Amino acid sequence: MDDSTEPVVAASPQVLAGLDHWRTLDIKHQPTWPDPTAAQAASAQIATFPPLVFAGEIDQLRDRLAKAARGEAFLLQGGDCAETFAGATADQIRSRVKTLLQMAVVLTYGASMPVVKMGRMAGQFAKPRSSDVEARGEVTLPAYRGDIVNGYDFTPESREPDAARLVQGYHTAASTLNLVRAFTQGGFASLKEVHSWNRGFASNPANARYEGLAREIDRAIRFMEAAGADFDELRRVEFYTGHEGLLMDYERPLTRIDSRNGTPVATSAHFLWIGERTRDLDGAHVDYFSRIRNPIGVKLGPSTTPQAMEALIDKLDPEREPGRLTFITRMGAGKIRDVLPGLLEHVKTLDANPLWVTDPMHGNGVTTPTGYKTRRFDDIVDEVKGFFESHRAVGTHPGGIHVELTGDDVTECLGGSEHIDEASLATRYESLCDPRLNHMQSLELAFLVAEELSATTR
Ligand code: PEP
Ligand code: MN
Repeated sequence: MDDSTEPVVAASPQVLAGLDHWRTLDIKHQPTWPDPTAAQAASAQIATFPPLVFAGEIDQLRDRLAKAARGEAFLLQGGDCAETFAGATADQIRSRVKTLLQMAVVLTYGASMPVVKMGRMAGQFAKPRSSDVEARGEVTLPAYRGDIVNGYDFTPESREPDAARLVQGYHTAASTLNLVRAFTQGGFASLKEVHSWNRGFASNPANARYEGLAREIDRAIRFMEAAGADFDELRRVEFYTGHEGLLMDYERPLTRIDSRNGTPVATSAHFLWIGERTRDLDGAHVDYFSRIRNPIGVKLGPSTTPQAMEALIDKLDPEREPGRLTFITRMGAGKIRDVLPGLLEHVKTLDANPLWVTDPMHGNGVTTPTGYKTRRFDDIVDEVKGFFESHRAVGTHPGGIHVELTGDDVTECLGGSEHIDEASLATRYESLCDPRLNHMQSLELAFLVAEELSATTR
């Protein structure tokens, strides 16, 4: 018997029809399923599965992001460029979560600022590709679109899109999220464990600096305990998930109606963003995003005009709801100081208050003569500095950072205090897509962001 006194509100027919309006619009970066009936059946099956996240958590995140937009908190978003099914192991998930927790501690302590923690995890399985095909020598095959669509191996069988992967994507996201929830709620993320997050990582300058900070935090906690303070925030952390909302055969069946108010919410993650390649104002993705209630992001590349940005605000955040809209800028180190200030100045003339986050990764890709896709740590740092400088100059809030990282000691980005050079890239290059910061580079970046942030808030 249902003894709930909550009214159950159904979605109106207009809301339901609107939720599928994207199907009539131009859509980019979707796979061509060899068996469309199988893809429909997989989507229908996913529609029967439980939601991965809940509307109440999504509302809470919106509040947290509203604080960040006001300059009272800072968003840390990080994880793989492309999660893989094989990479969803306990060890790899644990080291990514530890890396994010360590970065968050560096930021919280260094800048005395609450940090909203979000993994690019538990759903970052679909990738947009610049070309539908990949040629190697004489052979041309469909491009790899992420594990939720096809396999990375360069064989015709593996590269053929396979609808069974949609269902596997759901289950992999569910088991990843389950472990993330266990780690962040079950004591592992307790601030009393601040030293243990550093264990198991190779010793290096960033780790040593972290140890020093962890000792200070330990003393502060022992002091608070001795003084009788004991609060839940020490033992648990709020940890949110987000990914690019790209693959509509996965996102649409996980879009559910919130029975408290009859509105649609995406339940594949707390936060979804629209990529640089799918943010056309009249395209399918922007339309779908305009109809879900989650806090959402939009990537903004260097070609973004103030008018295009304003049109996105009007379409995606017509109510100007605090925490609803995040702009994730990915300009490139050479362009951010030219492009971002104009956008920030323009937003000041509107009644909007988006959260501004820097993605210093995607505008700074280079390919080495030996064929590795990489990024220079110095360019990443320079874009972060340009982000803070632009906000200081205009008087807006630098509200967060979005990075591709892993907890493993990979060699994918050049530089950092380990001085990874072109010759060392081959040592441990594991990303199937874009190059990620390794554990040490991630910590180094966190120290730098903490310095910039405390210089901004002082
Ligand atoms: C990404 O985040 O991996 C990505 C493809 O980014 P963008 O849309 O900014 O190019
Ligand atoms: Mn990427």
